[in-house]
Amino acid sequence: MKTIIAKEFADQPQFDSVKGILQACVHCGFCTATCPTYLLLGDERDSPRGRIYMMKAMFEGEQVTSATRNHLDRCLTCRSCETTCPSGVEYGHLVDLGRIAAEQKAPRSKVQQSIRWGLRQVLPYRHRFGLLFKLGQRFRPVLPQMLKQHLPKASKKLSLPQGDHTRVMLSLPGCAQASAAPNTDIAAAQVLDKLGITLKVIHKSGCCGAVDHHLNAHDKALQKARHNIDLVWPELEAGAEAIVVTASGCGATLQDYGHMLKNDAIYAHKAQQVSAAAKDMVEILEKEDTAALKILKTAGKVAVHCPCTQQHAMQLPGRVKTLLKQLGVEIAATHNDHLCCGSAGTYSLLQPRLSHQLRDNKLHDLTQDKPDQIVTANIGCQLHLGGSSKVPVKHWLELLASD
Ligand code: SF4
Ligand code: SF4
Repeated sequence: MKTIIAKEFADQPQFDSVKGILQACVHCGFCTATCPTYLLLGDERDSPRGRIYMMKAMFEGEQVTSATRNHLDRCLTCRSCETTCPSGVEYGHLVDLGRIAAEQKAPRSKVQQSIRWGLRQVLPYRHRFGLLFKLGQRFRPVLPQMLKQHLPKASKKLSLPQGDHTRVMLSLPGCAQASAAPNTDIAAAQVLDKLGITLKVIHKSGCCGAVDHHLNAHDKALQKARHNIDLVWPELEAGAEAIVVTASGCGATLQDYGHMLKNDAIYAHKAQQVSAAAKDMVEILEKEDTAALKILKTAGKVAVHCPCTQQHAMQLPGRVKTLLKQLGVEIAATHNDHLCCGSAGTYSLLQPRLSHQLRDNKLHDLTQDKPDQIVTANIGCQLHLGGSSKVPVKHWLELLASD
């Protein structure tokens, strides 16, 4: 379809790819059938095709109002539409650019700007987040339900393995997971240790950049990406085999570094290599001899939630379920696995009504077969679902941990 980008956007190199992405869409509407917000709201403007129409109009210079921005904000960036699209439309990259343009044309209120700024000052910083998290846990009984549901109770910490192996993989402890679910990375270290691999923690690494990226602070996200690349690059050159991903939200961002920094003359090549080295734990275990791994006797029947970032961004749908089944776990039947749980980074905080509806639907779809526990592969989904689930919610690696 003919697309003429308005000069004000054509003059900004960051929007270079917009025209090609818009032109790839043939407006067939197949994607609407798998879009969580369209299924909930039934409004074309809250579907991928409707949002693409709105972004096309905006980039062609038509008037933009806060309504355009709101329909883009309601998008979860779950990328279910990308998986469904037969024309390969890169919707995720398009909506990132659409949000930047919409904010330029219809700026947010001061209150909205402050909330988003505040989230960016806390969530991506391990120590700030950790401090608030500890305070929250201490005062949990007196907190309002809205906050309480995002705070899991403290659980017994697993032990780190002591093995020292020649095979090395890297761990970036990230931001929220280190405080909210420290056992996930310890479980990963235990599992790799049984396979003869040392998981080396890059302590000075920071947030992958996802929080800033989702909140339209792209320069800050790029700074964080460059910082992490500088830290892991010498390790990769020294022979580290992979960057181990235990939170698929971070994994999706790490695997996008190559795209995010493609125009950076200094970092473009390194960013591509770092993206290629970032592997979800399920990809790693699929290639190893897993005979040494044992499933906890207490696992029971398990429902597996595959995060959008794992299935639609990293393109690993159903892989955890298949692996756990091969390892002997009894898998509970689940429904609508392709739909988002409503966590979606900061979405659960900024769009609570839709987020909670999606969470309730997801918990219904996960628990019809009466599982003993739910497992997932991303800290955001784990906290979001765990906040209102009657069934315990964990990271799937905890099923393979030793104590
Ligand atoms: S994004 Fe893909 S599936 Fe959706 S309307 Fe465009 S071409 Fe069709
Ligand atoms: S990313 Fe998800 S919520 Fe957004 S348009 Fe695509 S399917 Fe819908």
